Amino acid sequence: MCGIVGCIGAENAYSILIKGLHRLEYRGYDSAGVALLNDNGELNVYKSRGKVNDLERFCESKDCSGSLGIAHTRWATHGEPNDVNAHPHCCQNGTLALVHNGTIENYAVLREALEQHGCSFRSETDTEVLVQLIGYIKQSSGCSTLEALREALQQVVGAYAVALVDREQPDCLYAARKSSPLVIGIGDGATFLGSDASPLVEFTDKVVYLKDNEIAIISRSEPLKVITNDNTPGKVDIKTLKMSVSQLEKGGYPHFMLKEIFEQPDTLHDCIRGRIVDGKVLLSGVRDNEEVFRSARRIIIVACGTSWHAGLIGKRLFLDLARIPVEVEYASEFRYSNPVVNRGDIVVAISQSGETADTLAALQIARERGAFAYGVCNVVGSSIARETDSGTYIHVGPEIGVASTKAFTGQVTVLAMLALAVGQLRGTVSAEQVKEIAASIKALPGIIRTTLKLNDSIRHLSGIYTYVHNFLYLGRGVNFPTALEGALKLKEISYIHAEGYPAAEMKHGPIALIDNELPTVFIAPMDDLHEKVISNIQQVKARGGSVIAIVTEGDETIATMADHTLEIPRVPECLSPVVSAIPLQLLAYHIAVMKGRDVDMPRNLAKSVTVE
Ligand code: GLU
Repeated sequence: MCGIVGCIGAENAYSILIKGLHRLEYRGYDSAGVALLNDNGELNVYKSRGKVNDLERFCESKDCSGSLGIAHTRWATHGEPNDVNAHPHCCQNGTLALVHNGTIENYAVLREALEQHGCSFRSETDTEVLVQLIGYIKQSSGCSTLEALREALQQVVGAYAVALVDREQPDCLYAARKSSPLVIGIGDGATFLGSDASPLVEFTDKVVYLKDNEIAIISRSEPLKVITNDNTPGKVDIKTLKMSVSQLEKGGYPHFMLKEIFEQPDTLHDCIRGRIVDGKVLLSGVRDNEEVFRSARRIIIVACGTSWHAGLIGKRLFLDLARIPVEVEYASEFRYSNPVVNRGDIVVAISQSGETADTLAALQIARERGAFAYGVCNVVGSSIARETDSGTYIHVGPEIGVASTKAFTGQVTVLAMLALAVGQLRGTVSAEQVKEIAASIKALPGIIRTTLKLNDSIRHLSGIYTYVHNFLYLGRGVNFPTALEGALKLKEISYIHAEGYPAAEMKHGPIALIDNELPTVFIAPMDDLHEKVISNIQQVKARGGSVIAIVTEGDETIATMADHTLEIPRVPECLSPVVSAIPLQLLAYHIAVMKGRDVDMPRNLAKSVTVE
């Protein structure tokens, strides 16, 4: 959450920072700000409520010169989104400016102590407490800014990624992290900083991922230096970035979300590439740990949001194909549940960004208690990827739309391959079954391409349901989590209330809601439970509810009952969530667009949830 950009050494730092903020805006967008050190040694701080465009308008008449600066786009945790609470924040005498991602948990005690020492606060944020603390330590002890930063970071409890500018040090920029990502880009004569690599990609492919408890000293003239919070030298490990600018642009689509929905044939192709060979699944994460998977006693999946839905599907797949007991936990609950974890357990952490704070913490707890840790992430080199024993990347490219689409289908595809690979190893799937499912996985990109042809009819359908206030999504078996995901998509971007349920649960309560104002979306492909779902559809129709059904092509039975049917190609049951997710994504998208919602930046949400 939140985007941090920094730059030192480039002629026009402001334009780089603003461009970077636009690239990072999907991470937080309630307010934005910038601090620039100009050639006269003045530190100019400009902040504005709203989006980055609002900040730009505010800055039009201001002095935005300088070759050193930091910038921020905020996702408020402490204090409402307004001009004052926007970052950067400054210390008491205005010489230091700081931007921050995360939360300082002990901010209240620290604030009180600083107030007693004469500091007066302008904002309600936890961030201002940190920069005032640095300023206070520096002034009261006469130490350097770096020393004061180090000391302050030792006093704060919580999560942070910070960038700090000192007016009196025009040749230097500081950055530090704990539990929130920061990437440094080493360019030609200039160095850049970002919460992720997207603002850096235009300038360099040489990057350094800062680690927890590290501080980077980014100097204009000297090579990058890294120390730890306890002052031991850290390693500067330069990596080559594999990301292109075109991946970060809309490519002619009106929204990133639509672009990402339509990218899915290609992203699934990348996700599968090299992993299905001669009718078998080859995952290096499984091949390198055969004994762990062969003797596994239990799998615990930890995740949040859409990834948790993918995890629920993963559970069905592991049960069916690998015959291992599986638990799926909300990471935020698991971490505080004093969980029983034993050797022989495998914890699978699913997170698009690989930075989800709750998932990372859940993973660490399970690992400390003896579990083998396996990651399913998208962002290469992310915290979860680094803190797991092994894993499989979903390789779907940067996902910018806040509502996850291509990451979900990538996660389910990876989980299907994982379950199949483990089933192969444990002998719980027949060679025939492996061959059949593996062939269907390989065919997924083409199948998704066909499914996307539903776009026009879904746009038309969305016009009928734009002004509905509530939706119900029902599915069974492996498509119960798909129903949850469909409901979540609609909620996230259209703000229409939607509930997902297992179809058979409807009669235990939600059926009371059915009337002619509540449409129900059924995910009803032809599978073992098809007949049962047909009964559920009849129950809704009998009560005057309208039904939109996602069905396997050629399903004539449901076509006679439902008000609208959307036909998807036939695939093995274990892969049907990947295909049925497509019409659900399109339905949510078109309804939200018709309601005039900001699809890529829905209210209150942000990508990459790095706070608890
Ligand atoms: N906790 C800080 C605030 O509320 C930072 C939030 C963020 O990560 O954007 O200002």
